[in-house]
Amino acid sequence: MKGERQGIRLGARTHRCGEIGGVLAGESVTLAGWVARIRDMGGVVFIDLRDRWGVVQVVCEEGEPLAAAKGLKLESVASVSGRVRPRPAGMVNPHLATGEVEVVADELRVLNGCLPLPFQLEQAANAAEELRLRYRYVHLRLPSMVRNLETRHRAAQAARRFLSERDFLEVETPLLIKTTPEGARDYVVPSRVHPGRFFALPQSPQLYKQILMVSGIDRYFQLPRCLRDEDLRKDRQPEHTQIDLELSFARETDVFALVEEMMVAIFAEAAGIALEAPFPRIAYDEAIELYGSDKPDLRFGVPIRRLDDLVSECGFAVFDDALRAGGTVRCLAAPGLGAWSRKQIGEMEEFARARGARGLATTRVAGGGCEGGIAKFLPPGLQAALIERADAHDGDLLLFAAGERDLVLAVLGALRLDLAQRCGWAPPGVWAFAWVHTFPLFERATEAGGWTAAHHMFTMPRDEDVDKLEADPGAVRGRLYDLVCNGVELGSGSIRVHQRRLQERIFAVCGLTPQEWTEKFGFFLEALEYGAPPHGGIALGLDRIVMLLTGSSSLRDVIAFPKTHLAISPLDGAPGPLGAAQLAELGLQLVPGPKEGA
Ligand code: ASP
Repeated sequence: MKGERQGIRLGARTHRCGEIGGVLAGESVTLAGWVARIRDMGGVVFIDLRDRWGVVQVVCEEGEPLAAAKGLKLESVASVSGRVRPRPAGMVNPHLATGEVEVVADELRVLNGCLPLPFQLEQAANAAEELRLRYRYVHLRLPSMVRNLETRHRAAQAARRFLSERDFLEVETPLLIKTTPEGARDYVVPSRVHPGRFFALPQSPQLYKQILMVSGIDRYFQLPRCLRDEDLRKDRQPEHTQIDLELSFARETDVFALVEEMMVAIFAEAAGIALEAPFPRIAYDEAIELYGSDKPDLRFGVPIRRLDDLVSECGFAVFDDALRAGGTVRCLAAPGLGAWSRKQIGEMEEFARARGARGLATTRVAGGGCEGGIAKFLPPGLQAALIERADAHDGDLLLFAAGERDLVLAVLGALRLDLAQRCGWAPPGVWAFAWVHTFPLFERATEAGGWTAAHHMFTMPRDEDVDKLEADPGAVRGRLYDLVCNGVELGSGSIRVHQRRLQERIFAVCGLTPQEWTEKFGFFLEALEYGAPPHGGIALGLDRIVMLLTGSSSLRDVIAFPKTHLAISPLDGAPGPLGAAQLAELGLQLVPGPKEGA
């Protein structure tokens, strides 16, 4: 405990619990921590004393320490002074960093008590989420939770260091703003001094970071908290942290190279993982064609294959009908699944139907041809051609879907992931990063029509598509990119629009009237006219990165004080009601609204 050893004046502690080892044998130490375990053997009491750095065994053999140990409560706070001694032969605990030694207490002082625990710490995983979050301070004592916070800290520090070394300036943008255009709902804050007026909390620093480019900051970053009042979903948090950055005069390839290097640094510094860069790049259209997803999991192959040219007028009605109706026929070759039972294949068919497919056709590959399932409908020549196209081998299972393109690709894409999970196709310890780029700029706002930005409205269209903005918005591709890893989207970014007129045209495609865009984004449009340089950037989800690094299954495990899936905080009870006086002060009056949590 370097700094603190000379800092004894701060407290009597001489060492950290987790640091006591054989080299200290015979030395006197003073420790402080939480009582993690008590084993009362009558004439001797063993205590596990825990702090952030680990656990050490304390032995109370006689006198006052023994008497004090008898009354100890679990998770109370204690300080112990005593001597370090090697554990007797046969009592060494190889699973504990301090397992070769113990501390024989001369003095045991209780610094503070602890009420009976709401859940046993080691059993926290089985406790109700609500309870764990209400007593988060207890839960965070779990060594695994401490490790998650440490990894998060290292990841954040690595990002800061990396970007700072490359001349990025960390700039804080405001929390109380007008509105952000990320497409979710804003959390709003009433202004007391301007009754009837409201601030929004930022969904991201998007407009501010672009304005910083207008200011000539050139290279900006921040680890901002982003707040989105989105509909409740299982693992979604209303607050998340980004590694947000923006660069002037940058092209896609500049952003890719920078972020690749940064991810290498973060993975190395936060978790000792050596990543390989550069990451593969795949255009959106190709990702959808091959994997049925814009965030393909590339830890395993098994791409989707298009068969339209091969099966055209093949005589198998399901395929013929789909093609005649303007649809498509695609297949997956699942390695080694030729041995699957009828029941297992039936489950796959059910899976496909539940996602809207009319059905799923299958056949096994055996002896260089097809066997079972739809084999009888496929002439031998076609069988051989399909096997070649699918790059299939004896023992594989071919799974076919026919129908409307988007649906077929979505179903086979989902099936590919489901099969991968069932069959363990993704090898452990593999980090399959990829850039997915050149997304459509717009997507349908509603089935009835209208357009909305696929990412946000500030993305630059590809040069060759600018002319299609008004005539055919669905065909416009954006200079947009996502970073994905193992099928998880880690971040999105784009090259931005930096000219007012083009920005207005995009607003117009998204259905904003000049009055609306002036009202909402007039300040920003004006800024673009004061010498805005070409620029682009990206924001990566820090929570998601840490989730991958720690192997956690929930965002809640990597955020110190998360909300539940109902977007509430059991720890402090937020959100809570406002009292009449505060409402009056803010000039607010409540009207009966939708039911809580609805
Ligand atoms: N502001 C965007 C987001 O939060 C990221 C970006 O375009 O840089 O998704």
